[in-house]
Amino acid sequence: MKRPENKKPFQIGTTMESCIDHYWRLKLETCKKALEKNDFEVFLAQDANHAKKIILEEILPGLSVRSVSWGDSMTLISTDVLDIFRTNPEVHFVETFDDSLSREERYERRRQALLVDLFFTGTNALPLSGQLVNLDMVGNRVGGITFGPRHVVITVGRNKIVTDLQQAMDRIKQYAAPINALRHSFKTPCTETGHCTDCTSPDRICNVWTITERSFPKGRIKIILINKDLGL
Ligand code: SF4
Repeated sequence: MKRPENKKPFQIGTTMESCIDHYWRLKLETCKKALEKNDFEVFLAQDANHAKKIILEEILPGLSVRSVSWGDSMTLISTDVLDIFRTNPEVHFVETFDDSLSREERYERRRQALLVDLFFTGTNALPLSGQLVNLDMVGNRVGGITFGPRHVVITVGRNKIVTDLQQAMDRIKQYAAPINALRHSFKTPCTETGHCTDCTSPDRICNVWTITERSFPKGRIKIILINKDLGL
């Protein structure tokens, strides 16, 4: 059958992508409202580049920042923002993941990172009710979110959004933790089976849970919700 004049073929790729983006934008807006009720400062970004622009043009000008550090986050790495601070001679950058350092030195750096002006990291899960749910091996990441750094910026991909707290914890234990253990080449049962057996391995990656219900003081924790699947 001949297609009528001026009627373009249905472009499934483009249309599906825009529907999915629209769906997630609605979810992100719901999360934004819930987080703002809990005193977090929230920004919406289309992608990792946009998140970087928000950090540099909207967040940084309002802060006095002389020292910066970070806690492990694949989402944060994808924004490529850390190099700007690493190469700025006016900023003391506390590098917490330098493989050339001994384990003791890296831990010492992570202790120092708890006193910086600006701490960057990600979150493991974000329930629609607007809390941050995290599980750490060492505790430096959740430590920085909780207390110490004057300001915290958290980058969050849309794939971290879950319905409720139970789903957040399931997501972390059954998905993020096993993949993180694989990423760091740890020897844990979940790297063999793909699921959590609540192990007692020396390499156990699951040691400290935190649920950050609210930002205290108001606005100390700034969250950038990104409309892309990023991180674990
Ligand atoms: S408790 Fe052990 S088995 Fe379970 S996810 Fe954590 S490291 Fe893996």
